[in-house]
Amino acid sequence: MHTEIRKTVIRNIGLCLSGDMHAPILEADCIVALDGRIAAIGRARDMDTDDATTLVDAHGVALAPGLIDSHVHPVVGDYTPRQNQLNWIDSTLHGGVTTMISAGEVHMPGRPKDVVGLKAMAIAAQRWYENFRPSGVKVLAGAPVLEHGMVEEDFRDLAQAGVKLLGEVGLGSVKDGKTGRQMVDWARKYGIQSTIHTGGPSIPGSGLVDADMVLETGTDVIGHINGGHSALPDDQIVCLCENCLKGLEIVHNGNGRAALLTLNTARELGQLDRVMLGTDGPAGSGVQPLGILRMVAMLASLGDVPAEIAFCFATGNTARQRDLDCGLLEPGRAADFVLMDQAQHAPGVSLLESVALGNLPGIGMTLIDGEVRSLRSRNTPPAARLPELVTGAVAS
Ligand SMILES: [Zn+2]
Repeated sequence: MHTEIRKTVIRNIGLCLSGDMHAPILEADCIVALDGRIAAIGRARDMDTDDATTLVDAHGVALAPGLIDSHVHPVVGDYTPRQNQLNWIDSTLHGGVTTMISAGEVHMPGRPKDVVGLKAMAIAAQRWYENFRPSGVKVLAGAPVLEHGMVEEDFRDLAQAGVKLLGEVGLGSVKDGKTGRQMVDWARKYGIQSTIHTGGPSIPGSGLVDADMVLETGTDVIGHINGGHSALPDDQIVCLCENCLKGLEIVHNGNGRAALLTLNTARELGQLDRVMLGTDGPAGSGVQPLGILRMVAMLASLGDVPAEIAFCFATGNTARQRDLDCGLLEPGRAADFVLMDQAQHAPGVSLLESVALGNLPGIGMTLIDGEVRSLRSRNTPPAARLPELVTGAVAS
């Protein structure tokens, strides 16, 4: 049986942001993807661009890997009961985000806290987002929070059923480092990644997780190191940066000053590749469709990092820390892209300069697995130039 290969060609790219901190800008004006995977990146004159099923003329705008939100709290489909919002994931796609990672489906009304119930919900959540991608966005979910009574077999069962993430340690009944460490070790043994709620309580009912507990628990990611909302004291944030090599996750729904302290400390340590971005939405502060872009612009403008590096915090760094197949412009990786340009009338002479001055880019298009998922963003300021879908259609 013959099935047609899907060929995606994006040409006339003005600026190619790789997602890789060590070479953040590529000398390339064209990308070719086959069946949703990047096949080649380079100069169009040297590439086979014929017979594209999807052809995009970028008209000189910038292309970056689709942004990754390292920290969200989805519940089901494109609905969140946290602020009673519909289509928050679609809105976030219009902010350039193509992959979201659950830090626990904790806003599910009546969330089960008994072991069999929490396992069942985690497995179901993993399935319902695997089976249904809202607007095409990849939502990696099914992230149980730790409750007392879980034993090693529970983590083996979860892993065998397809669960790959833990929700934030500290959001369930396990609130001590010793028990947390034991369970995180079991999770890791079966290939399940872990994160932790760093800082003060987020809403009534949650608790404090201080630096000692973060270090003792030893999760793969230091979840919202800048608090969600309340940050730890400065000395504890510096201590976390200095005393482990885990991912340093900075979130929009946290403390901006603590975000800059984390960034500055990571830079002094020569470890900016640990920095990754999330929103922590939906939360008490709402949903943040432009949250990742706002973090990029904030860190680029106030944190003394080049804008092209700040984009790596939202793409390649997260992909590497979390072992994702997207987030970097490399052959073999998922063809998830965001096309964007300097916003109309934003100061600066280029996209990167306008972001370095604290302005958001205007998004013109997103692609996921080589398929166009959105055109001009309804949420960002309008871009000066827009890419054009020459051949093919927006996926539905
Ligand atoms: Zn949290």
